[in-house]
Amino acid sequence: MRLKHYLGLNQKESAERMGVSQPTFSRILESAHQKNTLALIEGKKILIYGGNFETKLSFKGYGCNNCNHEWEDPDASRERKVNCIKCNSNNVYHLIREYI
Ligand SMILES: [Zn+2]
Repeated sequence: MRLKHYLGLNQKESAERMGVSQPTFSRILESAHQKNTLALIEGKKILIYGGNFETKLSFKGYGCNNCNHEWEDPDASRERKVNCIKCNSNNVYHLIREYI
């Protein structure tokens, strides 16, 4: 989607940059469209990974050392003491994850 819609490359150029055939690129792009549409319509998260890219998406929250549960909290900070929302343990760490 970045190559085709953001950088404006055509399918042939995009496929070459990704090192795949045009039919494969077409299938990958269609799959990306379906996933993004689903995320937009149903309000799901879009996780981006693999390859080299930059993004401003980040996950902020806490993780529990007791039950390994992780949850998002936009107001999370190292100073704020919280208990796990799942098991109520106070053995909780602050979590910032950048999707880059
Ligand atoms: Zn827990």
